[in-house]
Amino acid sequence: MKGTFPLERFDQWRTPFYYYDTDLLRLTLHTIRAEARRHERFEVHYAIKANANPKVLNIIAQAGLGADCVSGGEIEAALRAGFPHSKVVYAGVGKSDWEIELGLEKDIFCFNVESLAELEVINETAQRMNRKARVALRINPNVGAHTHANITTGLAENKFGIAMADMENVIEQALCMKGVEFIGLHFHIGSQILDMGDFKALCNRINDLQQQLEKHHINIGHINVGGGLGIDYQHPNREPMADFRSYFDTFARHLNLRQHQTLHFELGRAVVAPCGSLITRVLYVKQGTCKQFAITDAGMTDLIRPALYQAYHKIENLTSDEPCETYDVVGPVCESSDVFGKAVDLNRCHRHDLLALRSAGAYGEIMASQYNCRRLPEGFITEDF
Ligand SMILES: *Cc1c(COP(=O)(O)O)cnc(C)c1O
Repeated sequence: MKGTFPLERFDQWRTPFYYYDTDLLRLTLHTIRAEARRHERFEVHYAIKANANPKVLNIIAQAGLGADCVSGGEIEAALRAGFPHSKVVYAGVGKSDWEIELGLEKDIFCFNVESLAELEVINETAQRMNRKARVALRINPNVGAHTHANITTGLAENKFGIAMADMENVIEQALCMKGVEFIGLHFHIGSQILDMGDFKALCNRINDLQQQLEKHHINIGHINVGGGLGIDYQHPNREPMADFRSYFDTFARHLNLRQHQTLHFELGRAVVAPCGSLITRVLYVKQGTCKQFAITDAGMTDLIRPALYQAYHKIENLTSDEPCETYDVVGPVCESSDVFGKAVDLNRCHRHDLLALRSAGAYGEIMASQYNCRRLPEGFITEDF
């Protein structure tokens, strides 16, 4: 089964380009809201870094989600797209001075602070600007995630967050600072997580930390469990949406949220990955000595995930119904890792056939580069046609 695309209209656009199915995006956003509302005090933010295409961001902002940012540029993009400043959270191990000033100036909801050194700078900056920064401490929970090593973030060996052993000391210091208001804890254990057991392990760790804090009469109003919910890259047509119900239920069941607390989520991939496809044309079919190659006009500069994390994207030939043959699908960039898929079964390919690389809405367009002096791909949404 192949996805359905407005093929007659694809001819107007220069390939490669990203196509975002906004019906699916809106349905996904609706589902997220409906599933989150089954629980009390669950607040969902969208992780801007997954896809910052302005048209996509607009639709997400209109759905009422908050914004999770990891740079000053993302704060600007979020505000431009219509996310309210009161729903912007900002994480990152290396916040520059101007980024901290921007967050304070725009009065964002919360800085997720990743070190004592950063906390001190935020405190000084806020006092100088006559402001008070709401801060949550990002704690490294030392919880593994069953995902690719390059996208685990919650292990002691990763650069992210404050070690659990240092948590209380940093909180004590935060509570004495005039420029900051300590409001909660933040976590993020990784990405493309499909095993709910990983999130359960995070819940258990947070429960322990909460008990520890309460013993010292430290109360917090906000717990932020980050993002990381994965999608089914293998079957984009059968499973077009992530399992939001199981995800939220896992936290409802296993996290001991106190009466006055709000639970925050920061979903990126699960919001946008399924709705996006990279559309590319076959330039050449090349017979190698032991295999044949479909050479596309898109390359790793347009979609780097396969080269960077050996990620799988389902590939479909949208313009051929001929019997399947096996191809290595490769881009034109001068790197051996510029391969979208090896031994891929595709309907027989010809020059100018259109291929879709599915589930490419997250960490696709936003990670595009100009290596080899290539053009950046454009992004179109359903309404553009
Ligand atoms: C990347 C990131 C997210 C989103 O991760 P997804 O796997 O795309 O859901 C959420 N929070 C933080 C702090 C991040 O860095």
